[in-house]
Amino acid sequence: MKKILVTGGAGFIGSHLCRRLLDEGNEVLCVDNFFTGTKENILPLLDNQRFELMRHDITFPLYVEVDQIYNLACPASPVHYQFDPVQTTKTSVHGAINMLGLAKRTRARILQASTSEVYGDPEIHPQPESYWGKVNPIGIRSCYDEGKRCAETLFFDYHRQHKLDIRVVRIFNTYGPNMHPADGRVVSNFIMQALRNEDITIYGDGSQTRSFQYVDDLVEALIKMMNNETDFIGPVNLGNPGEFTIKELAEKVLTLIPESKSKMIFKDLPADDPRQRKPDIALAKEKLKWEPKIDLEAGLKKTIEYFRGKI
Ligand code: NAD
Ligand code: UDP
Repeated sequence: MKKILVTGGAGFIGSHLCRRLLDEGNEVLCVDNFFTGTKENILPLLDNQRFELMRHDITFPLYVEVDQIYNLACPASPVHYQFDPVQTTKTSVHGAINMLGLAKRTRARILQASTSEVYGDPEIHPQPESYWGKVNPIGIRSCYDEGKRCAETLFFDYHRQHKLDIRVVRIFNTYGPNMHPADGRVVSNFIMQALRNEDITIYGDGSQTRSFQYVDDLVEALIKMMNNETDFIGPVNLGNPGEFTIKELAEKVLTLIPESKSKMIFKDLPADDPRQRKPDIALAKEKLKWEPKIDLEAGLKKTIEYFRGKI
């Protein structure tokens, strides 16, 4: 049994991770400021004696005793990370410094939830970890993209300078139950719109691509990466290489909700919206013996059932 800190533990991915870590017999400390996370996500965990919840903003120092840290705290939906961009950068950068400081004092192993956004609007397709990216430093997505890039820099400098035991994963678009219905990301938007018979809002002409990973596959990989006892510290891409245009995603959602009366409408494409995104997961396959198992249709079905219950 380990004492494990999950920052952002009341969020979408964090809540699944907390549950899995408890199921494996660990003690879990969930730290969250509830900016985008909810108590509802962790309600089923509150009765567990090995689960503890702390309201705390990681841009402030935290003094606790733990063996492992999963640093997930950060809004991930463009709508939410652009709402208070200065706080987003602070969460990524000051938050990383605080959590790395905690890891340094406790000698805990620390994993950073980085993102495919470090590749920006990529010129190389699919994206391998060796690609350095094409990121606008002053655009509306920069608070998130550059914040996460700086966090990666901090992790590697703490590793080189202070011999910290780090792990860095780059997560590609992930979806599933516990996403907030008003999260603003494409999968939750399209499903909620289809269930409510509202227009399906496609930004641009819908030809931009994303690769969608079901949350259970990601959680499996996060735990494998944290517990790998080799010298492999990452960064490693974690995503499902199945690539779809946003229009294809809308069509799939409508096929899986046949009673929906929704129609697709086309809206302006937000600035700096990446044209294409698909992970090269050769490294994860080789080093973690991991690859995603749940395809888009199976994952969407589970997610649609979850959102039906929310309406
Ligand atoms: P989410 O918004 O559902 O969860 C983020 C959680 O962090 C929320 O519970 C929020 O309240 C909390 N939080 C935000 N700022 C905080 C702060 N300053 N202090 C404490 N808690 C704070 O998003 P998610 O999809 O679960 O993403 C989790 C992590 O994974 C994020 O770091 C995100 O950047 C990363 N990630 C997610 C995806 C994805 O597709 N879901 C892709 C790439 C990276
Ligand atoms: N998108 C869309 N309609 C929506 C929400 C998003 O067409 O209602 C598009 C968005 O412009 C982007 C893609 O879907 O091209 C994925 O957006 P999301 O916000 O989920 O994540 P991103 O990968 O852009 O961070």
